[in-house]
Amino acid sequence: VAKRLEKFKTTIFTQMSSLAIKHGAINLGQGFPNFDGPDFVKEAAIQAIRDGKNQYARGYGVPDLNSAVAERFKKDTGLVVDPEKEVTVTSGCTEAIAATILGLVNPGDEVVLFAPFYDSYEATLSMAGAKIKCVTLQPPDFSIPIDELKSVVSKNTRAILMNTPHNPTGKMFTREELNAIASLCIENDILVFSDEVYDKLTFEMDHISIASLPRMYERTVTMNSLGKTFSLTGWKIGWAIAPPHLTWGVRQAHSFLTFATSTPMQFAAATALRAPDSYYEELQRDYTAKKNILVEGLNSVGFTVFPSSGTYFVVVDHTPFGLENDIAFCEYLIKEVGVVAIPTSVFYLNPEEGKNLVRFTFCKDEETLKSAVERMKEKL
Ligand code: GLN
Repeated sequence: VAKRLEKFKTTIFTQMSSLAIKHGAINLGQGFPNFDGPDFVKEAAIQAIRDGKNQYARGYGVPDLNSAVAERFKKDTGLVVDPEKEVTVTSGCTEAIAATILGLVNPGDEVVLFAPFYDSYEATLSMAGAKIKCVTLQPPDFSIPIDELKSVVSKNTRAILMNTPHNPTGKMFTREELNAIASLCIENDILVFSDEVYDKLTFEMDHISIASLPRMYERTVTMNSLGKTFSLTGWKIGWAIAPPHLTWGVRQAHSFLTFATSTPMQFAAATALRAPDSYYEELQRDYTAKKNILVEGLNSVGFTVFPSSGTYFVVVDHTPFGLENDIAFCEYLIKEVGVVAIPTSVFYLNPEEGKNLVRFTFCKDEETLKSAVERMKEKL
């Protein structure tokens, strides 16, 4: 394997999902729903295939999807963007992140991450030859340590790569925190790459896109996808929204990474994004019920549960059960209890920082969540 990827192992999600199958354990690890996406979106995909929308799509997205993304963004943020010049459709948000980093970051540039962070960020920054500067969010509230953030910023900082609502903690960046990040970026001419794939899974507050803050759109790439909002994680349709001068870089990288993404799924994605408000309200209601089952369950089992305001994840402190670290705890949980969780140490530059925490997902039907809680109550 190439040196730039030497330190990375098989992703924790792949490892944990295969262990789940091997041990017949209930999988509350990898974040994918065990229920299907909505019929009106699946029908739209079938129709597009029947209508012969099966050859290469335009590289930066089929026009109808670029427009649907722009319409959605206007509804959500009030920002009016040009679908032809400021929206790039990618193969999932993971590709949007890769295209953004590879298209806008030079080797040696510094990029700031908030730990814990989604695993692809570090690997992709490594592929780009970027230097990582890291600021750790601490429990119980995982708030942004602004002074520490200021101290890691230098003249070499190219970008801050952030994620709100935040995987794995469920933390949502507040307006005050976003304002502080924005001022720092404006003062120091820093870009923001913002991964907002969980923006529709919020429970206590509304999601705020940092691009919508004054003077921020011009320096922000906002990234999102279809997978979480429409319970279609296997479709891999994502996008990046940015002003033309940044979109240029994103598209150059995207052209040579994947060139284009699945044509019929893009047509269906356009239909999905035009869903009525009631779709989003129902999604939120369903997820609130699921979250309550899991959070109450985990509390009653005896974990210290940290508040999650968004995403379909919740992080707990496992130390009341006396296992050595998060990896040992997750192994015990799979083998002896029959439940899969994700050890969070993989989301830190320094794994020690995550050793007390594990992540559970609640993107599963209510029966599955209840059985997982039952197993833990009996056997932990
Ligand atoms: N985003 C999903 C999670 O955090 C997993 C995606 C993946 O398997 N790479 O669980």
